[in-house]
Amino acid sequence: MRLPLAALCLFALTAYAVDAGHVLRGYTPEDSATEVSWEQKFRALPDRDQIRENMRRLSARPHHVGSPYDKDNAEWLLAQLKSYGLDAQIETFSALFPTPKSRQLELLGPDPFTAKLQEPPVSGDPTSSQTSEQLPTYNAYSRDGDVTAPLVYVNYGRPEDYEVLDRMGISVKGAIVIARYGMSWRGIKPKVAAEHGAVGCIIYSDPREDGYFQGDTYPLGPTRPPDGVQRGSVMDMPIYPGDPQTPGVGAVPGVKLIPLDEVKTITKIPVLPISYADATPFLKALGGEVVPEAWRGGLPLTYHAGPSVAKVHLAVSFNWDRKPLYDVIARIPGAKYPDQWVIRGNHHDAWVNGAEDPLSGTSPELEEARSLSTLLKQGWKPERTIIYCFWDGEEPALLGSTEWAETHAAELKEHAVAYFNSDGNGRGYFRAEGSHSLENFVNDVARDIQDPETKMSVWKRVRLVDISRATPQARAEIRSRADLRLPALGSGSDYTVFIDHLGIASVNLGYGGEDAGGQYHSIYDDFYWYTHFQDTDFSYERALAQTAGTMVMRMADADMLPFQFSDQADTVHLYVTQLKTLAAEKRDEAKERNLEISEGVYRALYDPKKQMVPPPVEPVPPYLDFAPLEQASDDLTDAAKAFDAAFTAADGVAPTGLNPDLIRSERLLTDDRGLPNRPWFQHLLYAPGFYTGYGVKTIPGVREAIEQKQWAEAGEQITRAAAAIEREAGLLKQATNLLPAKTTD
Ligand SMILES: [Zn+2]
Repeated sequence: MRLPLAALCLFALTAYAVDAGHVLRGYTPEDSATEVSWEQKFRALPDRDQIRENMRRLSARPHHVGSPYDKDNAEWLLAQLKSYGLDAQIETFSALFPTPKSRQLELLGPDPFTAKLQEPPVSGDPTSSQTSEQLPTYNAYSRDGDVTAPLVYVNYGRPEDYEVLDRMGISVKGAIVIARYGMSWRGIKPKVAAEHGAVGCIIYSDPREDGYFQGDTYPLGPTRPPDGVQRGSVMDMPIYPGDPQTPGVGAVPGVKLIPLDEVKTITKIPVLPISYADATPFLKALGGEVVPEAWRGGLPLTYHAGPSVAKVHLAVSFNWDRKPLYDVIARIPGAKYPDQWVIRGNHHDAWVNGAEDPLSGTSPELEEARSLSTLLKQGWKPERTIIYCFWDGEEPALLGSTEWAETHAAELKEHAVAYFNSDGNGRGYFRAEGSHSLENFVNDVARDIQDPETKMSVWKRVRLVDISRATPQARAEIRSRADLRLPALGSGSDYTVFIDHLGIASVNLGYGGEDAGGQYHSIYDDFYWYTHFQDTDFSYERALAQTAGTMVMRMADADMLPFQFSDQADTVHLYVTQLKTLAAEKRDEAKERNLEISEGVYRALYDPKKQMVPPPVEPVPPYLDFAPLEQASDDLTDAAKAFDAAFTAADGVAPTGLNPDLIRSERLLTDDRGLPNRPWFQHLLYAPGFYTGYGVKTIPGVREAIEQKQWAEAGEQITRAAAAIEREAGLLKQATNLLPAKTTD
C-alpha cells in the first residue's frame, strides 16, 4: 500500500540538521554525540550486494506457510543471525491454514466458458515455472461451497456500492457477485456481499487499476499480465487476526481450539480470485443497465450491472489443515535497561516467491541485524534490549506475529517500548505511519537519512513531493508545521497485534512511489521481476535498512525515551473536530434527502426506460454530546505542552520512573473491553475499519457508530474514548511532576 505522508506542523523547537551542534531529543549532549557517531558508523554498513543476495536466496523457491522452503528459509535466517554472533532461536506455533482441494468456475448457458484459474510460466523468468511448489490461485479462509446462480457486478463491493445498486433496483439476493479488487481490503468484499444475501463472490483484477492501463504488462513491463491473479486472505480480520481457532491466546501445543464450525472469521460464502482474462467472458455476460461511469474499468467492453441471464457455477473446497509457523527471533540484550524492549519485525513468508512482498523488507532487515552485530563487535552496547523478528504466516492472517505476541502478551505489556515494522519496499519516497506520540521521533530520524537519488534528506524529499501534490490549504499546513504528519495505522501487516491488541507504540515504514509495482501476490512477484523493474540497484533497500536500523538504535539508546505528545494532542484535536463534522454531515444529509423525497425530486427523475428506486425516508440523527471528548482533548493539549517543555528542559537527564511512564503511555489508550463487537481490538484511537479492512478508523468506536447510525452506541463510545484520553493526560501530568520544574526566563 502507498502511504502518503500529509503534513503540517507545530513547534519551532524541533531541530533539523545532523550537524555537530545538534543534540538528539531525549539525550544528554554527551550521549547524543556518542549516539550520532555510532549511528553514522551504522549507516555506512548495509551493503546493497548483500541485500540482493539475501533476496535471491530467500525467493529462490515458493515459500508459503507449511511449504518446505518456508521452513528452509526460517532455518537459513536463524543460521545467518547466529553467524553474526547474535542470540537467536525459532519459536514455533501452529495455525489453521486452508489450501485448495478443488476450484471450479464456469459460465453456463449459450456461450459456455470455463475459467483457467492459472498463471502460466513466462519464458526468461526462471522461477515462474516452479509449478509443482506454487500455491494455486485462491482466497484463503473462503468457506467450501458449490453454488450456481446469476451474476451481478458490484464495483468494489463496498457498502456504498450496494446503495447504488439499491437505487438501480438491483438485488444480489441469491446471486453470485463479481467485484473488482481495490478501494477496500479484499476480505470486506465477500463479507458485505453475504450481508446483502449473495451466495458466492468472485474478485478480479481490473486492468484500470492493476494491468495494462497502468503500464506495459509483464514480461515487457512491470504490470499485471492478463492471466495474473492476486491471491490473498479473505478472513474477517477486522474481528480478529491470527489463528482463527485461538483468538486472543497463543497457538502453542495443548491450547484449546475453537471447533471449525464456530469460527467467526471464515467467510459466509465461497470466494475465488481471478485474472482479467478469466473475468472478461463473465463481465460480457452481464445484462441489465450500464453502470455509472465511476464503476467502469479498463477492459474493452461495456460494463453492465447484471443480473446475467446465463448462470455461473462456482465450486471450491479446501484442506482445512493446521500448519506449523516458524518465527525467527534474535535478541541483543540491553546493557542498562535490559527489561525495556525495542522490537523490529518484517515477515518472511510469501504467497509464492515473494521478492517484493515481503522479501524487499525482509532482506534489508536481515542486513540491519548484520550491521548492528558489526557495531557490537566494535564496542557498541545498546542501553535497551533489541529484538529482531522475522515473522511467518503474515500473508494468510498475520499469523506468526499475532500468535507470538499473544503468547508473550504479559511480558510485552510490561517491557515493550515500541515496535518498528516494514513489509515490502521499493524505489521512491519515505513513507511511514504510526503512533502519534512517535511522530516527532520518526520525523527526526527521516531528517538524518540521505535519499539515494537526490542526495537530499528523505524527509526533505517527501515534504517537497507532498507540497507539489497538496491542495493550497494542505500546502500551507505543510509549510507551517515543523513535523510532517504521521498518518495513523490501519491494518495489513504485522504491527496490528502490537498497536491494536496490546497498545504498544508502533511505526510502519518503507519507501515507494516511483515504480508501478503490479505483481502483488502473483507468481511473477519474483527475483527476476524485482531486479528488472523495481529497486534494481537495491539503493532503496539499503535506505530502508539505514532508516529502520537508526530508529531502533536511537530508541534503544535514549536516556529519556523520545516520545513527544504535542503532536499527539494536535492530532487528537483534529480527530475530535472530524467527528463533530461527520455527525453534522449525517444530520444534514438525512434532512436534505427527506426533503427531496417530500418535494417529489425522485418522481421528477423518473425515467420509464430505467429502473429507479427512491431512497427510504430516514429518521434525522440526534445531536451527540461531544463535550467529554472536547474536554479530554483540551486537557491532553495542556498536559502535552507542559510535559514536552519540561522534557526539553531536562536535557536528557531521566528521573527514575520517567521511562516506565512513557512506556505505558500507549497502553493507556486501550481498553480491555475492546471495540463494539470486536473485543480483540482494544486501542480506542486507532483500528482498521470494520468495513474498510486496511483503512484506518480513528477514534473508531465513535466514528463507526456514527457511520453505522448507532446513536446510543456513539454516545457511550464518546465517554470511553474521552476517558482514555483523560488517562493519557493524567499520565503526562504525573510524568511532568517527575521532571525538574521548568524555569522560564
Ligand atoms: Zn507482506
